[in-house]
Amino acid sequence: MRIHQWILAFGLLLNLASAHAGDSPSLKAGVARVNITPDLPFWLTGYASRTAPAKEVLHSIWAKVLVLEQSKDNRIIFVAVDVLGLSKEIVEDVFTALHAQFGIQRSQLLINSSHTHAGPMIWPCLNVIYDFDEAEQARIATYTQRLSRQIVGAVEEAMRGLFPAKVFTGKGSAGFAINRRDALFPKGAVDHDVPVLKVESEDHSIKAVLFGYACHNTTLVDKNNLISGDYAGVAQTKIEAAHPGATALFLMGCAGDQNPYPRGTSALVEQHSTELANAVGKVLMEAMNPVRAPIRTEFQVVSLSFRPVDRSVFQQDILSSNKFLQRRARLMLEAYNKGWNTSQFSYPIQAVRFNNDFTILGLSDEVVVDYSILYKKTYPRENLFVAGYCNDVQLYVPSKKVLDEGGYEGGESMIYYGHPGPFADDVEDRITNAVHKVMRRVGAKKY
Ligand SMILES: [Zn+2]
Repeated sequence: MRIHQWILAFGLLLNLASAHAGDSPSLKAGVARVNITPDLPFWLTGYASRTAPAKEVLHSIWAKVLVLEQSKDNRIIFVAVDVLGLSKEIVEDVFTALHAQFGIQRSQLLINSSHTHAGPMIWPCLNVIYDFDEAEQARIATYTQRLSRQIVGAVEEAMRGLFPAKVFTGKGSAGFAINRRDALFPKGAVDHDVPVLKVESEDHSIKAVLFGYACHNTTLVDKNNLISGDYAGVAQTKIEAAHPGATALFLMGCAGDQNPYPRGTSALVEQHSTELANAVGKVLMEAMNPVRAPIRTEFQVVSLSFRPVDRSVFQQDILSSNKFLQRRARLMLEAYNKGWNTSQFSYPIQAVRFNNDFTILGLSDEVVVDYSILYKKTYPRENLFVAGYCNDVQLYVPSKKVLDEGGYEGGESMIYYGHPGPFADDVEDRITNAVHKVMRRVGAKKY
């Protein structure tokens, strides 16, 4: 045998050895859940047209936790929450508590909001849409603090119950997401992938199913005033019913410009959740690929700029008959008076990579689908899921295309989120540069 044949044979042996190692449980998993349905009546968020708090529950809502760990340096805590979005403050609270208790790094905690528009108001997110008195604000702030403690409690429970686990990945598809900008700006993209992560105990029973989809969780439109996790919440319930003992966790994808179609009734929640749960169920029935350690995680905050807006614009807006413009102007003038920086936005970007097997790029806020499509193209060798709505959710993040087109996701929505105006032209470039940095640091290669 020539020397290069020896090298080839030896390489093959190594590969076989590592494939064999992948079969044995090198990971531990922990799972927990907590019911986060508020005491009623309670104001729901997401639609400015609501005129009363919710008085009934259609579906209970949950925070769910999946911990995957090889060692302290090598772990990830996924938290999936049935709310519209979280504030920076609550995410920071949760991290601070978990860092003190378990020594976790910031990159080891990924919180994702399902973006249900039938979930409770989280203080101070999206507060421009309502004009609450101090008592109502305090009540919402109290719920927000309770939610933070509940998430920490669920993570503690998951960490206490770590068990040897095998993890697998696969991908399905569901077709009910449409690009909601199509009527005004044709040729909008969609991403119908349904990434799935299955966590089994040593006896092969399914303990957790993590899955994603890129579509606004808004089947129930503004006329609904009942608490619900919408299609994503009900899909989790269906998956759990099909696999008793399993906890299903939903991670929202880049759904900024994606809507369910059709929408408007609870029968359609049933329809879309069934389609999504069936897509996940089909993947679980097929042969799935093993997901191995190490788990590499990175977290970076990139600074994004808003287009400059002169103070005089807000001095005009505060006199406007449009109450949303007026409230945004009040916030902006207060910020100017206090000397706060209103021209920059701190944007967290996170990557979680399991060996060469599965990668989650966690973008924050309401990211449009162009980002998912771009990064999947840039990293074709990665089994990549680009999640949006990770960490905090405080505005829409348009691509350069959507920014140039304008419209709600391109800039108008900044009014309701209480920001000065559209992003500057380099928003996509700044995010993409930071994405390449975190992806490189977790070992992903372009092209
Ligand atoms: Zn939204």
